[in-house]
Amino acid sequence: MIDMSPNQAPTLAEKTAPAETTSAIRLRGLRKEFGSVVAVEGVDLDIAQGEFFSMLGPSGSGKTTVLRMIAGFELPTSGTVELAGRDVTRLAPFERDVNTVFQDYALFPHMTVQQNVEYGLRVKKVPRAQRRERAREALRTVHLEGFESRKPTQLSGGQRQRVALARALVNRPKVLLLDEPLGALDLKLRHAMQTELKQIQRDVGITFIFVTHDQDEALTMSDRIAVFNTGGIEQVGTPSEVYEKPATAFVAGFVGTSNLLSGDSAEAVLGTRGVFSIRPEKIRIDPDLSQPAAVGEVSATGTVTSTSYAGATVRYVVALDVGGQLSVVRQNAGAPLELADNRVRLCWRQEHNFRITE
Ligand code: ADP
Ligand code: MG
Repeated sequence: MIDMSPNQAPTLAEKTAPAETTSAIRLRGLRKEFGSVVAVEGVDLDIAQGEFFSMLGPSGSGKTTVLRMIAGFELPTSGTVELAGRDVTRLAPFERDVNTVFQDYALFPHMTVQQNVEYGLRVKKVPRAQRRERAREALRTVHLEGFESRKPTQLSGGQRQRVALARALVNRPKVLLLDEPLGALDLKLRHAMQTELKQIQRDVGITFIFVTHDQDEALTMSDRIAVFNTGGIEQVGTPSEVYEKPATAFVAGFVGTSNLLSGDSAEAVLGTRGVFSIRPEKIRIDPDLSQPAAVGEVSATGTVTSTSYAGATVRYVVALDVGGQLSVVRQNAGAPLELADNRVRLCWRQEHNFRITE
């Protein structure tokens, strides 16, 4: 694989410096107002060199605005943006060592693939032969050799996406910003590109900041995820931390299915009050009500109120006798459940109750 890493090797000082000074990106107290709208509020974040970092959140939660402030397209109302230890808050986009891949790809329609990919180098007055070679390398990285002379209209959505990626990679930025880059692709292609994009990121070793509203996408691809809600970050963690240990009810609901026990139901089932998240696949559903829970398990009885068949899995919604309801996902491995009057016992291990901060 071709070396697409940034030009300068780290100096000894950079290599031995404490982690906090080598962050690829550091955001402090970042805030952005558009008139009376507060789009981003109090964002603090440290992203390490070479990380695949996702910003996950619903539409309107401020992800794009944060990305645009990192890129320099938007000036923060207050707060700072540092790239590799340097305050770039007030620098123009071209003065920052970052590139952006937009959701609509923003390719030049009248230019060929080759010309599109070379564009950034031409602006930087890189000599022609070198431009050629680097564009060829970038196109090879995204598996688009042989498409050099096509126009964007002669490409599929997935191929256009790759051109956009090659056009950013060719500049060898330290940081690549990607704003919902797979949003326009159909599901199958999207899944294929997720795997491929992750592989490309590993190969080139560039820090990726990936914006998405799709929780599966964020969980699949990321080293770490920041979960956004109304202009702020609710939680930062690895995919398994965010999924297994959601810090807030919002995270529990947005990343995975919201499955909460609280108040009297929590008291009755778990013997303690508070709000607890339990992931649906951790719960065992048993039509035999006389079966007791095993050691280390908690259990509750209830009535199945809905069953949805999803091929590999079946999802049940169970109204608990003590109040509240839980979703249960069951692998469709053996025979279907035979339910008498829809009555069931749910059992799950104690350690799968995760207390949520209210
Ligand atoms: P996301 O990318 O998470 O969908 P955005 O960062 O685009 O969210 O938007 C965050 C909030 O800021 C939204 O309420 C949006 O309407 C508002 N917003 C974004 N850009 C502008 C703008 N240029 N002018 C006014 N409001 C904006
Ligand atoms: Mg957006």
